[in-house]
Amino acid sequence: MILFCKAFIAFGCEIKISVFQFYFFLWEKHVTKIPNSYLAWMIVWVNRFLLRKKFLGMALWPFIILQNKSLLSDTVFINHEKIHLRQQAEMLIVFFYVWYVFEFLLRWIQFKNRYQAYKNISFEREAYTNEKDLDYLKKRSFWGFTKYLF
Ligand SMILES: [Zn+2]
Repeated sequence: MILFCKAFIAFGCEIKISVFQFYFFLWEKHVTKIPNSYLAWMIVWVNRFLLRKKFLGMALWPFIILQNKSLLSDTVFINHEKIHLRQQAEMLIVFFYVWYVFEFLLRWIQFKNRYQAYKNISFEREAYTNEKDLDYLKKRSFWGFTKYLF
């Protein structure tokens, strides 16, 4: 996957592969410009079948999966998902999800409300707080979400 991404970024091109109505996009303008950083790669995958109705998008490194193509122009939304990609990459993906679920359960007990619990997970706090700052990922420190734990 890493070699695959690298090759296409090197060409600076857009790929669009149609396989049973699933579309893959790798758009150079959406790739965070950090030289030689594997953390910067991402592939946008528009697939409305993969997501449940109420979810517009989700990050699953190295993919950002979107309900529909128009979301690509929503820079704040894309930035939110990019922050999650970074969190996932630096936690080797699997630990991100373990932590995410664990913290969700703790917050659920704390707030006794599922939506409040979700919004207060440190990963989400970091993403929601900084999603409007399009340069956030360039200055973010490693494990930056830990600042949002308490
Ligand atoms: Zn989020």
